[in-house]
Amino acid sequence: MIQKTMDLSSGKVKIKIGNKIISEEPIFFAGPCSVEDIDTMRKIAKELKALGVDVLRGGAYKPRTSPYDFQGLKGEGLEILRTIKKEFQMIISTEILDVRDIEKVMDVVDIIQIGSRNMYNYVLLEEAGKSGKPIILKRGFSATVNEWLGAAEYIMNVGNEQVILCERGIRTFETTTRNTLDLNSVAYLKKYSRLPVFVDPSHGTGVRDLVKPMALSGVMAGADGLLIETHVEPEEASSDSQQTIDMKTLGEIMKKTNEIWRLR
Ligand code: PEP
Ligand code: MN
Repeated sequence: MIQKTMDLSSGKVKIKIGNKIISEEPIFFAGPCSVEDIDTMRKIAKELKALGVDVLRGGAYKPRTSPYDFQGLKGEGLEILRTIKKEFQMIISTEILDVRDIEKVMDVVDIIQIGSRNMYNYVLLEEAGKSGKPIILKRGFSATVNEWLGAAEYIMNVGNEQVILCERGIRTFETTTRNTLDLNSVAYLKKYSRLPVFVDPSHGTGVRDLVKPMALSGVMAGADGLLIETHVEPEEASSDSQQTIDMKTLGEIMKKTNEIWRLR
């Protein structure tokens, strides 16, 4: 089943993000867990742009574990992303949860995120794939690497090879941290898959102070890019504030990533 992605002889998939090509230089996706009000988003976008972040990420539709938690600004959040994209000329990524929202989301975002909870939603994978836009595919938190590659194959089989795999931690017996960031998968996929691999140390740890060390460890393991929840006021973030870092820390991670990249 995973013939295509496992076939080293057919060459690595090249994906362009703006004027960069993934794997040739580090790529950074950053922004809040959820899209917030327009003033906060403007502050965040301004800082991210100044740091040289490639893609502004933020969830308009939020797949929360509890139905009583904030579910995102939904359509209003998409409109905020549209405004930010226009004002700051930034590449935008947001998560899609439901095939019924595909048209609306496509109209605004450049890179579609399929979240951990939807990695097995094959109809959604195919429909998102048909958009022809790059897709960042989070690993299901209980998915094996093989199942994750199978999900990627669903997208590739509709004719869209632009799939970025994103390791975001898996559920293990360990409960000290929110998830266990499986960096084995990163080293493995860099060797045996044709697809680029990113690391999300935010969901991978769930702990703000662990984001920097695990981001850099991910880069050492071979990650092509990082996805990091970042906010101008992390403590005030409307979701996942406990794992959200500030702009200063993001700047440090970016600088160190560039240093490590050259040493790998
Ligand atoms: C996110 O990136 O905001 C998110 C919900 O991630 P995951 O699907 O990995 O939990
Ligand atoms: Mn989050």
